[in-house]
Amino acid sequence: MSTWEEKVHKVTPYTPGEQPKNADVIKLNTNENPYPPAPAVQKAIAGFDYEVLRKYPDPAAAGLVCALSDTYGVPADQIFVGVGSDDVLAMSFLTFFTSGEKILFPDVTYSFYDVWADEFRIPFDTVPLMPDFSIDIDGFCKGTAGGIVIPNPNAPTGLDAGVDALEKIIRSNPQCVVIIDEAYVDFGAKSVLPLIEKYDNLLVTQTFSKSRALAGSRIGFAFGSKKLIRYLNDVKYSFNSYTMDALTQKVGSAALSDPDYFKMRCLAIINERERAKKKFTELGFDFPDSKSNFLFVHHPKVAAEDIFKALRENNIFVRHFDGERVHDHLRVTIGTKEQMNALFDFLKKYLEGRD
Ligand code: PMP
Repeated sequence: MSTWEEKVHKVTPYTPGEQPKNADVIKLNTNENPYPPAPAVQKAIAGFDYEVLRKYPDPAAAGLVCALSDTYGVPADQIFVGVGSDDVLAMSFLTFFTSGEKILFPDVTYSFYDVWADEFRIPFDTVPLMPDFSIDIDGFCKGTAGGIVIPNPNAPTGLDAGVDALEKIIRSNPQCVVIIDEAYVDFGAKSVLPLIEKYDNLLVTQTFSKSRALAGSRIGFAFGSKKLIRYLNDVKYSFNSYTMDALTQKVGSAALSDPDYFKMRCLAIINERERAKKKFTELGFDFPDSKSNFLFVHHPKVAAEDIFKALRENNIFVRHFDGERVHDHLRVTIGTKEQMNALFDFLKKYLEGRD
């Protein structure tokens, strides 16, 4: 007789970035926003009627969907919300990618895609990035995939492929759903959102975790054709209808109510990123020209892992990935000016005499 353990669905889980307990750490390892969420969020939490929690939350998160509809000018029935864009993406894989045909994503990309593919037993192929880490557009234009998912800007490179190139991919693949994961789009790339009117197989996902400084609330959303969103909701409601709690729904709406604060913080991060590019260059690093809130830096003379360990010992956390094409790089989230200055002061001293 077989044991129960032989019947378990065994998977290799995604490894999230470290969340150190020590508050003194300069945390530049998980692409969080270094600034607080909009002040309206604090007010929404303070004014929240806790008795509401007695009841189940609105499964459709209608208040939040309505606020997203106003903010982005997209009808409510073309919007889907989830518990972080990880939830939105996982639901999308389940809904759109289970035909048994191979899906495609870049070889160097968000490391959750292959985890979901394995979890849901979805076969996949990866399309290698070009030597300069840009997306191989033609590699995605063969029109035979069972599904496509591409982050724009890509992670961990930060590179923006541009709307025209992405449209070419979408246009070449009417046979499957194409997901453009825009987790980092608010830091300077242009969104493909207007294309949902033209292509009913395009799903655009975004998140409150980065540009809206709400990683802790777990709010993600997607835009697509009515049909696409209906299919997605059907699967979500067949899985767990009440995914987003009542307080989070209020928090999300509050965050959207202050567009000036949002723009100001995004601009501060963009400016700091551009300053960081100059500083890293002075220190001898090279990196792809990121349009996100992180830089993917490489030093030609000092191993990334050594720099990573030295930084860590000095309470500065950045992200180092194993893997053939990426282990020579570090992904550094853009922090406040003070945090970045501490990083550069350390690197300057550390690299002296080493390069
Ligand atoms: N897509 C990409 C490319 C990401 O880097 C992340 C963040 N880890 C996500 C999606 C998921 O973000 P969240 O679930 O916090 O919305």
